[in-house]
Amino acid sequence: MAVLVGLEKSVSRRTTAAAVLLATAAALTACSHEAPADGGAPAGATPPSKHAVAIGRGGAVSSVNPYASKVGLDILRHGGNAVDAAVGTAAALGVVEPYSAGIGGGGYLVRYDARTHRVDTVDGRETAPSRMRADSFTDPGTGEPMDPSEAMDSGLSVGVPGTVKTWQEALKRWGTLSFAKAVEPSAALADKGFVVNEEFRAQTEMNEKRFRAVDPTRELFLPGGRLPAVGSTFRNPDLARTYRLLAQQGPDTLYTGRLARDIVHTVQHPPAAEGHEGTVTPGLMRLGDLDSYTAPTRRPVHSTYHGLDLYGMGPSTSGGIAVGEALNILKRFSVSNGDKAQALHHYLEASRIAFADRNRWVGDPSTVHVPSDKMLSRFFAKDRACLINPHRALNSPLAPGDPNHSDHACSAGKGARQPHEGTSTTHLVTSDRWGNVVSYTLTIEQTGGSAITVPDRGFLLNNELTDFDFVPVSPGTYDPNLPGPGKRPRSSMSPTIILKNGKPCLTVGSPGGATIITTVLQTLVNRLDLGMSLPQAIAAPRASQRNAAQTEAEPDFLALPERKALERLGHSFVPAPRTFTPRPEIGAATGIEFRPDGTVLAAAEPVRRGGGSAMVVDPVH
Ligand code: GLU
Repeated sequence: MAVLVGLEKSVSRRTTAAAVLLATAAALTACSHEAPADGGAPAGATPPSKHAVAIGRGGAVSSVNPYASKVGLDILRHGGNAVDAAVGTAAALGVVEPYSAGIGGGGYLVRYDARTHRVDTVDGRETAPSRMRADSFTDPGTGEPMDPSEAMDSGLSVGVPGTVKTWQEALKRWGTLSFAKAVEPSAALADKGFVVNEEFRAQTEMNEKRFRAVDPTRELFLPGGRLPAVGSTFRNPDLARTYRLLAQQGPDTLYTGRLARDIVHTVQHPPAAEGHEGTVTPGLMRLGDLDSYTAPTRRPVHSTYHGLDLYGMGPSTSGGIAVGEALNILKRFSVSNGDKAQALHHYLEASRIAFADRNRWVGDPSTVHVPSDKMLSRFFAKDRACLINPHRALNSPLAPGDPNHSDHACSAGKGARQPHEGTSTTHLVTSDRWGNVVSYTLTIEQTGGSAITVPDRGFLLNNELTDFDFVPVSPGTYDPNLPGPGKRPRSSMSPTIILKNGKPCLTVGSPGGATIITTVLQTLVNRLDLGMSLPQAIAAPRASQRNAAQTEAEPDFLALPERKALERLGHSFVPAPRTFTPRPEIGAATGIEFRPDGTVLAAAEPVRRGGGSAMVVDPVH
């Protein structure tokens, strides 16, 4: 049960334009900038001060939430490294951002090692139960795909959670803290509580109907049957106990012990509220599915841009490949030549092409062959770049290219419709005094996940399996992202680390479902081509072209002077869908830039999702 206590001072919304202005004019050299700084206050019910930009030394954290960043910062201050801080921050996000992240979900962690200069990754993506089949999300009578809203609020969409295994794997390989020490501050935070802000309330409100349909979810997130009031303190003692159970019994208890049994029982018997019995479809998960779960370390995908080395997450996410392919295409043009309308045109076209290709070729590498290297080759980029006409936008849906065979014809065929993909998730970045870096995106899929809380355990289960294509996207063509036993659904998460001469230069990532790819790509184009500082690149208005006839855009993008020129080229814009704020938003990025003078600049969103929180260990003012 959550505990709501009184009304406290409302969280002040600081930053926005001020932080961005403070972040100074853009430098012309890639990865070198100016901007201000901050630390924070102790974790607990009083919110730490929140700033979208921080500059300093000794390590940094940037996340969507000041309580979470503060937990990570404290770990760094006490001698922990970037991995320790990333796990600590993620565990705290499970407390303060429970609708976007938590131990009921999964994610991808990319890590740079300052000693070896290697980049490694952990694939903590959820897996489908062994009983899942290609047609599990179709109506057996008609063969039609299940209604997405029915699938979203069901046990059927719950994948085997990978987050705890990710933390265990990362700490074991690269951390200095035990699992128990890494999660203890977050257990304390869950006990002590956090002050509800407008964002948390809005996200709860958006989920209210779903949450009311599931008893333990209603009890936890609608305490007293009501939406949590802004300014009140939200406590989650169940989650505190769960973190302590994991600390005492070890993380394996989520896979083979008491927590595993609780998860499986909940998935098989979703605890519907009175009047909602029979409306929540049970899932297929069994104990063996949890027991056999692994979070493998994988080679990152690699590409280059302007002499920089980009390391991204490979399949089972499409993020690293799509961002890398789009940049490979862009580098064949003079995007930084000062014509911003042309730069945006090329950004949108490269994204359109990369989406056509990722939809056709990327799936779980343990069950399908993904031609990652070929998709990131310069030969494929040349074939695909050839389609871009500076005077005319391509038509969507555009057909995918074939990375296995060169297309000398340069032909733009008609492709398949885009699969449905939602928007939620969270991204954090950390660095430490030794120069290690972590870029970590984690999620429970849609905001509020499956809406199914594990009774008395204080966390929501994911609905990640809705990221599978329920039926082939293009009838008659092999679809690498159909459901299957033990399979990971294709993701868009794109945690990215960029090196310059073998040393970190920039790290970035974002939430936002399929718009994660475009947000990361646009942020990099803004930073590396359009002369913006990192805070400006993160704050700039966004547009997201995902091989659709219309490009989704934020209101500020629609107000850009370049819009008319883009429309003359044939681009058609539509406002991005509203999520939980009155204004449509795309993504909510965080990043760190490593500057030539040895300082780091940590940056978070100034406005989106209520504004994020960047902190450094030793601020320079
Ligand atoms: N399920 C999404 C993905 O893996 C992330 C969740 C979201 O942001 O919607 O790409």
